Amino acid sequence: MSQGIVTAAYIGATVMFILALDGLNRQETSRRGNYYGIFGMLMALLATIVGIVSANYFILFGGVVIGGTIGLILAKKVEMAQMPELVAILHSLVGLAAVLVGFANFMVHDTAIVGVDKTIHDIETYLGILIGALTLSGSVVAFLKLSARIGGKPVLLPARHWLNLSLLIASIWLGMVFVNQSALGGGMLPLIAMTIISLIFGVHMVMAIGGADMPVVISMLNSYSGWAAAATGFMLNNDLLIVVGALVGSSGAILSYIMCRAMNRKFLAVIAGGFGTSSGETASGPAGEEGDIVAVEAAEAAEILLDAKEVMIIPGYGMAVAQAQHAVHEITRKLQAKKINVRFGIHPVAGRMPGHMNVLLAEAKVPYDIVFELDEVNDDFPDVDVSVVIGANDIVNPAALEVPDSPIAGMPVLECWKGKTTIVLKRSMATGYAGIANPLFYKENTRMLFGDARDSLDTVLKNLA
Ligand code: NDP
Repeated sequence: MSQGIVTAAYIGATVMFILALDGLNRQETSRRGNYYGIFGMLMALLATIVGIVSANYFILFGGVVIGGTIGLILAKKVEMAQMPELVAILHSLVGLAAVLVGFANFMVHDTAIVGVDKTIHDIETYLGILIGALTLSGSVVAFLKLSARIGGKPVLLPARHWLNLSLLIASIWLGMVFVNQSALGGGMLPLIAMTIISLIFGVHMVMAIGGADMPVVISMLNSYSGWAAAATGFMLNNDLLIVVGALVGSSGAILSYIMCRAMNRKFLAVIAGGFGTSSGETASGPAGEEGDIVAVEAAEAAEILLDAKEVMIIPGYGMAVAQAQHAVHEITRKLQAKKINVRFGIHPVAGRMPGHMNVLLAEAKVPYDIVFELDEVNDDFPDVDVSVVIGANDIVNPAALEVPDSPIAGMPVLECWKGKTTIVLKRSMATGYAGIANPLFYKENTRMLFGDARDSLDTVLKNLA
């Protein structure tokens, strides 16, 4: 295939990826966006296989078959609730690829590249490995945290800022040694030393962030994986990889910014770690005082719903665990048939990945026009008769507004307690992801409906006849 056709295919694929990102912006067009992405990736793969690769087809096809089979099995096997951890581990593979390509690039360097070109080439290699190693270890720690294999709480070393600064200075110094290649084993040694430092930095950075700030980690690692891919593109002289990496890197950075804004956090403060540590296990102060709770049975909850005119459903991580989205939709339809207005209020960090709740509700075919974001509904709660909190906890915790030293202080939450009645569906009095008590459960107008959310909703549904 001529170089011209490859370039045309790459431009076509780039356009497809841009259309994919645009489509993924809105729920209504997200399916189409996915198709654009798949088509773009197919074009890119075909153009690369036919136009660029000229040897070792056996290894290439072996890789495609093995990688494709693993991907297919994972995609079929993974539960929706495990999606965030799958995304995290996939990010780590992008980082690993950047590290491997970087080392390969260094070991089989082109002797024809000299002078300024060589310096630029070395800087590309160095940065590619640095970002790749950071993404690799950071994503592995994020995976371990999200899959609850290690605790989700921030781990803060006493002199963490100094440690970060020393690692940064050491990386810059090693970079200078590497580019000059004057000492320390002609380049390989500083490269290995920097890789170890970057791996440590990735672990340290993600360990220090925790609790309710994890969404920012996920979007940030998403961004890093894009920059790692772009760096790989520079190393391999592949324009498409550079463009696609930059698209992923910048869209991930924008998502991180949006997540920080949604949580009322400063990006740099989250990265530096330390949020979510101020008051430990429980929310203190007046809002944190525990009292009596009022438990209800599903039949009673159904009656409360039937008496309502305005219902707000607030889904959280527990809805994903219980796979209760279909039951929620059935209940919505039943209530709508009885002329009760039902809306959904979605918190930006509900669940365990950005857009988690929207994906589940779309899967259950809940119409998009009754699904609203926090900003769109938060002022309406005084007019809401019943809020149904389904497996949500941190995103409806009044401590965020009422307890200044709470780990989630300042984070906007869905203020359902301002409505007439709130029904909370959960299995126990256990805390949510941030590990803090929730004063909502003790409010006078809150009713606790204990049990698996799906079982509870199925019984509510039967009682809505
Ligand atoms: P939370 O984790 O705060 O609370 C979920 C609640 O669901 C738990 O209290 C649990 O209580 C309940 N639950 C679990 N399983 C079931 C079940 N089968 N049936 C009924 N209830 C169940 O979730 P939220 O959505 O409120 O908040 C999300 C949290 O996760 C935030 O802190 C956010 O920062 C964090 N996070 C978000 C990410 C994102 O990108 N969206 C990424 C990583 C973290 P019980 O055990 O008693 O049933």
